Parts: sequence; structure tokens; C-alpha cells
Amino acid sequence: MEFKETVTFTDLGLSEPVLRAIKDVGYEHPTPIQEQAIPIVLMCRDVLGLAQTGTGKTAAFTMPMIDILAGGRAKARMPRSLILSPTRELAAQIAENFDQYGKYHPLTHALIVGGTSMDEQIRNLDRGVDVLIATPGRLLDLFGRGKILLADIKILVIDEADRMLDMGFIPDLEKIASLLPPIRQTLFFSATMPPEIKKLADRFLVNPKTVSVSPPSSTAANVEHFLVNVSHAQNKSAEFYRIFLQEDVKNAFIFCNRKRDINDVCKFIRSKGIKADKLHGDMEQSERTVALNAFKNDQVQVLVCSDVAARGLDVQGMSHVFNWDVPFHAEDYVHRIGRTGRAGATGRAFTFSTPNDFKAVAQIQKLIGKKINVFGGGENAVVEASVESNTEKPKQEHKKTEHSGRGNRRGGGRNRRGGKPEQASAKTSPEKRQSHEDRQPIHGEENNGTFGADVPAFLKKG
Ligand code: AMP
Repeated sequence: MEFKETVTFTDLGLSEPVLRAIKDVGYEHPTPIQEQAIPIVLMCRDVLGLAQTGTGKTAAFTMPMIDILAGGRAKARMPRSLILSPTRELAAQIAENFDQYGKYHPLTHALIVGGTSMDEQIRNLDRGVDVLIATPGRLLDLFGRGKILLADIKILVIDEADRMLDMGFIPDLEKIASLLPPIRQTLFFSATMPPEIKKLADRFLVNPKTVSVSPPSSTAANVEHFLVNVSHAQNKSAEFYRIFLQEDVKNAFIFCNRKRDINDVCKFIRSKGIKADKLHGDMEQSERTVALNAFKNDQVQVLVCSDVAARGLDVQGMSHVFNWDVPFHAEDYVHRIGRTGRAGATGRAFTFSTPNDFKAVAQIQKLIGKKINVFGGGENAVVEASVESNTEKPKQEHKKTEHSGRGNRRGGGRNRRGGKPEQASAKTSPEKRQSHEDRQPIHGEENNGTFGADVPAFLKKG
């Protein structure tokens, strides 16, 4: 994470209790998005924030919100502010931010997310909450049952708007916005700004101030990522284990494209005596929380997951990412490997690629503007050569190369976020409702350019 060491949190106009809480957490300087956004939010202006997770964006809105809301009191069922998040995990992390920075304020917050008991959520709403953190589907559900009144919302935050678009939540967002008072403060965050998101921002925001940060380059420079070519999918296990033994894996995510593969991969990893667990969208919320906490507390070394976990999970010090499968969408590659190499620590990512993946690999390389190095040793198909030609299918021949002989590496890093797609409301079209992880392979489809110029610098560097 990059900091301007001349700027302190005191310079940003935050109250003494928030500053005290920040001191307790141990932050010394605001991140660029915090430095830019906090004073503007405190002026009660609308903000259009272009920032990815990992930039300190959550604190950029939670800290000033705590101060703005400090004065008033919430009535039963009438929250005073609303934060919309695309996933349950992300919503939970936002709630943790309020716990941390709001510890010297008597503010209350509630989480309204799917997959957990509605009764408790309703009880919390009845008590009156200052900050409601919600996923769109459950919020509309409770609103429809008359359990929430949105007439007192003074601040609306939309977090990860581009992710909401991916997940088919835009109609829900529009519906929710139509239920809110027109006079309010709106903070709108997105990592990218495709035309649909720009349109939405134009509709929701009034004279916004745009704040924008590029992805942190300290993260960037520290991720080494490799392709591991295998001739057949069934050879991935052996290749994984070979690499696992020679890398110093503190902890790792393994991403699979299909939920049904996650069980098999997890079983295989466990059979090697490695502590592993799963994280995917079909698990109960409570199981997912247990798995994630076990991973965060180092009781589990490897988490085998679907793209549910690809964005935003805030896990400190992850050393490795393995892509069991080349992701269907090129931009998911960026998100997946972005789980590691955070905050100045090194991280390493390995992507297992079969000859069938050559188009998907070519798309990733096109997106990131460079070739991914092939990791030496073991089995190596000739995907590289075919990627260069970019149109022809690779020949089914295999090249053995000498192992590159890397010594043990220690990775480490922190923080990204993500989580389970909520159910979109009934009004959302079925095509749009299809969750990311259930999508069919799109080999051959043109890169949709979601990332565009926002590809992190580390992926562009040679
Ligand atoms: P976010 O971009 O909101 O996901 O934040 C990413 C990570 O940065 C989280 O682990 C935060 O605890 C951490 N963080 C946020 N602000 C700061 C700061 N000013 N100094 C150091 N770490 C921070």
C-alpha cells in the first residue's frame, strides 16, 4: 500500500474518537483514496470513487460516515444510512470496519445478508440501526415484507458497483434507489467504469467529486506469476504437488472454475496431509465463515475455492495462489492472483494450463499486455508457442524443460475481499442472475475489456 508520509489522519478533519480508534488499529498514514475521499465525504458531498479493494477504500467511507452519523439517533426499522455490497463476505468486512473505527462512538449497525437467519436481522432492525449494511436481494426481500423503512436514509454507499453489474444486481440497485429519499449523500465506488456503471453513477450522484487511485504498485511489483503447462487435466494434481513441495507455501488459495471440482481437489490435497478446506457458493453461510476463519487463523493452509472468493477477501499474509483452472474470464485472472503479494510482501501464483486453454491464456496475456512466464520443470505442453500464433490450436506435443531450480520462497501479503453472490431479486432476468462461478466456459470469446486501462501495473510489467 502506498502512503504519502507527510499526510496524517489528523489533517483530514476526522473527530478525536475516530482518530483514537485509528491509532488503536495502528495505521500511521491515510492511503491515497482515504486522503482524497475523507475530507469530501465529511463535507457531505457525493463521491464517485474509482478504486479497487486493497487500496483502503472501505475505511475511506466508513471513517467519515461515523463522524457524520455521530449526532443523530435511529428509529425502529428506519436505518439512517445504507451500504450496499455485492457479497455477504464483503458486507461482513464492512461491518468489521465499523466495529474497528466506530468503537468510541455509540453507533449501531446491522448486517442484512442472505444465507443467515432473517429473525435476528429483523430484531436488530426493530431496535433501530444507524448503519445498515446489506446485499441487494435480502434488503429488497425484507423491504417487501415491511420490515424496513428506507425513508430516513441520509447516506447511501454503493460498493463495488462493477461487481454488482457482473452479478446482475443493477435492476435491484435501481429499485432500491427509487425507494430512498432523493435528498441524500451518495458515495459510489467501483474498480472500473464500463458504460453501464457510468450511466448508473450519473443517475445516482449529484455533482459528485471524483476520486481515483490506481491499484497499489507495491503489491504489484511483488507478484510473480507463472503458467504450468500440463498435457491433460488429470496431470494437474501431480504438478501441483511437485510445486507445492518446492515452494515455501505459508498459505494458499486454489481456484477451480467449477464447484464440482472443488471437492475432488480438496480431497486430493488432504490425502497429501495438507490441511485444506473449501469455499464456494453452495456452502451454508455458517460453513463458509468457519472455513474462512480457519484459513485466516492458520488452522487451514489451503483453501480450495470458486470465484466467490476471488474478489476482495481480506486475508493477511497469503503467500501463494494456484489456478487449478485457467479462469474463464481474463479479468478473473487479475483478481485471483491479486490475493497475494499484498502490502510489499512477495507472492507467487501458478496457473495450470492444458492445451485446451490456449485461447483463454491468450486472452489473459492480451489483457495484461505481456506473456506469462512458463514455470520450468515437470511437464510442459507447448501452449506458449500456440499462444504466440494466437489463432491456431496448439499441437499435441510436449516439451520437457529443465527445472528452473527455484529455491524456497516465502510469500506473504494481505487483504483482498470477495464473497458469495447474493440472489438477485425476482425482477432480475435469469441470464443476468447467473452467478459468476456457474458460467459456462467462454474460451474463444473476445475479452470484454472490463479492466481496460485499469489492469494493475504489476501485470503489465515485463
Ligand atoms: P480495503 O481496500 O478497504 O479492502 O482495505 C484493505 C486493507 O487495508 C485492510 O486490511 C485494511 O485494514 C487496510 N488498511 C486500510 N487503511 C489503512 C491504512 N491507512 N494504513 C494501513 N492499512 C490500512
